Amino acid sequence: MPAGAVIVAAGTGSRMGRPKQFLPLRGRPMLDWTLETFLGMAEFERLVVVLAPETLREHGDRLRSERVRVVEGGLTRMGSVRNGLSALGPEIDLVAVHDGARPLVSREVALACLKAAAETGAALPGVPVKDTLKEVRSPQLWVHATPERSAYWLAQTPQCYRRSVLEGALEKFSDDKDATDESQLVERAGHRVRVVPSTYENIKVTTPEDLAVAGAFLDSRWGAARRESRTGFGFDIHRLVEGRPLWLAGLRLAHPKGLLGHSDGDVVLHAACDAVLGASGLGEIGQMFPPEDPTIKGIESRRIVARVLENIASKNLELLHLDITLVAEEPKLKPQYAALIESLQSLWRLSAGRVNLKAKSHEGLGEIGRGEAIACYAVATVAFP
Ligand code: MG
Repeated sequence: MPAGAVIVAAGTGSRMGRPKQFLPLRGRPMLDWTLETFLGMAEFERLVVVLAPETLREHGDRLRSERVRVVEGGLTRMGSVRNGLSALGPEIDLVAVHDGARPLVSREVALACLKAAAETGAALPGVPVKDTLKEVRSPQLWVHATPERSAYWLAQTPQCYRRSVLEGALEKFSDDKDATDESQLVERAGHRVRVVPSTYENIKVTTPEDLAVAGAFLDSRWGAARRESRTGFGFDIHRLVEGRPLWLAGLRLAHPKGLLGHSDGDVVLHAACDAVLGASGLGEIGQMFPPEDPTIKGIESRRIVARVLENIASKNLELLHLDITLVAEEPKLKPQYAALIESLQSLWRLSAGRVNLKAKSHEGLGEIGRGEAIACYAVATVAFP
């Protein structure tokens, strides 16, 4: 049976101040996580995202693709579902209806519901209620009764239906403006609905604290690799002169010349600092240590590195990786690779494999080629919370 999904994201965010489906969740709009999960299931031939007019204008083009149609929502949830269904195409006869604000839906749950709906006509994911339920009817909040908890399940999405079952129920109760899920209409139309055991992870993000919970679930599912990361670039060049010690990557190297500068002239650390500050959106090294500041005269560049690390830590940022290209005619640096990399790992508190170093000559060209200067390029990757 060809299957399609309608992802309903037409809410206006009355409880979150703005459309919740587009609130950032680990660096991406929440809806993008939801859509990605469905795009990863080839079983769904066609996906329709239903948006409110404002968000459709802003995000419609970005979300559309060969498999994804984007349509405008109706005045009620059921109106939106109806619009989504009509955009699915006539070949689709098995339909999943999913809340755009459930970004943690798993493949396993979605496919189990789809399979159950193919067999029975209607199935929804659910979890048993954990807390004791109280029935409260009075405005003074007196407890009216304590229902038998074991009989109650929380309904989630994607709710899956044979298309004829869902369309029949929507048509029959087309004047129902208050239905909060499709299943209640299908039930009222006399069709049995099967519950498929789901997970408590598949939450609906409704209030601000739900976003924090969803973020924590995403972290545990994907690990730190799925956090937002940003890239920064840094460059530095210093003159190579007689009578100065040569400091590179925090190491003092034996060489008759050294780098000229207000500090120790360590081009590697300076380029790396600028790359890290760039990725972190914190400007540049010159703003943190103005060259005219007398206290930086002769400052060890390792102290600049420590300050940069403190700065990014105070913003909850984490340096993930440094890639460094040194350009020097002399000294020959390849024999020193291991020591230089170890020094960088230690200064930047990076574990093994998180520093890459390359050294190039300048083929005898220009100032660097004549051995009058050493330059360095650096690229840093920083993870955002
Ligand atoms: Mg410098």
